[in-house]
Amino acid sequence: MIENPSDLFKRLEEKGIELSEERKEEIRRVDERYRLRISDHYFDLIDWDDDNCPIYRQCIPDITELKEFQGYSEDPLNEGKYEHVPFLVHKYRSRAAFMCSNVCYMHCRHCTRKNTVMNSPIAGREALGPALDYVREHTEINDILITGGDPFAIGADLLEYYIKGFRSLPSVNTIRVGTRAIVAEPSMITDELCDMLEKYHPLWVFTQFNHPREITPDTIAACRRLQKRGIPLGNQSVFLKGINDDVDILEELYTKLIGIMVRPYYLYICDRVQGTAHFYADHHKGLDIIEKLRYRLPGYALPRLIIDADGENGGKVTLEKNHMLKETSDYLILPGNSEETVTKYIINNDNGDNV
Ligand code: SF4
Repeated sequence: MIENPSDLFKRLEEKGIELSEERKEEIRRVDERYRLRISDHYFDLIDWDDDNCPIYRQCIPDITELKEFQGYSEDPLNEGKYEHVPFLVHKYRSRAAFMCSNVCYMHCRHCTRKNTVMNSPIAGREALGPALDYVREHTEINDILITGGDPFAIGADLLEYYIKGFRSLPSVNTIRVGTRAIVAEPSMITDELCDMLEKYHPLWVFTQFNHPREITPDTIAACRRLQKRGIPLGNQSVFLKGINDDVDILEELYTKLIGIMVRPYYLYICDRVQGTAHFYADHHKGLDIIEKLRYRLPGYALPRLIIDADGENGGKVTLEKNHMLKETSDYLILPGNSEETVTKYIINNDNGDNV
């Protein structure tokens, strides 16, 4: 594990890679505000011959992270406002998120929570009681997301303590765990961890593959270990400028994901979080790419493009182009089944009333 700039410089030296003093100083400065942490697995995926390596860009600090950008804030999603008891965020009627971890196997440079959770104290066992009381009183909550940070980085015993607590509530139907360990440190998805998770079905795991190069024999094996216990896997990618804002890259990513039975679920437009502006790719581009992917991928490989609207009544909203090119009382004109074609759908106005 690379935990600080000195570790990084040492590892680079071992590889015969020399950074300038100026670049080293930049990395040190960024690390003071946004800590550097890279798993060995992820570090070994970096292609040092690729100037725009998608792995490098997601894990190595960039001086742009320290620039303040207008319209960006530390917590644009205002999660603090919805934290009704410590560590429990209740923003959507039927779901709540328990932020049990402030540790991760790597610190993704684009992380939405790089200014908040990553600097917060870790939830201890004592955090569970008030969270359970809250969910007990709010029986409309039937889905619990265990997140952080990375819940798989807090140790299986503590994680089980939390999951078991939520599973004991009759109103809780599904439990989800949000983790990037599958991508960042797949060896941590041990048989023992998977055996523990299997006891608390229905339980889902959501992860974050952003680029096809992150799908390796080790990550595939980690997915298999979870799947063998009947745990469905979903993927929530982040739409990242210069990393995956490209139709060919996303086609490859999603094709590979369904090939390893990980369902592409969301493609997030980057939240406007201080320290991440250089990753922002806008929604027009996202919509264009999703439209093209619609023709290239089976429907179940196509994620929903999501913007997390931060205004009043905001939240996760699906962005879609209006597919009705024309609507009359007799027919619809719709996009055809290949690019730049249209089709006509005749509306059957006879609904049987006259029979
Ligand atoms: S693993 Fe998730 S929570 Fe942790 S730094 Fe990466 S994006 Fe953020």
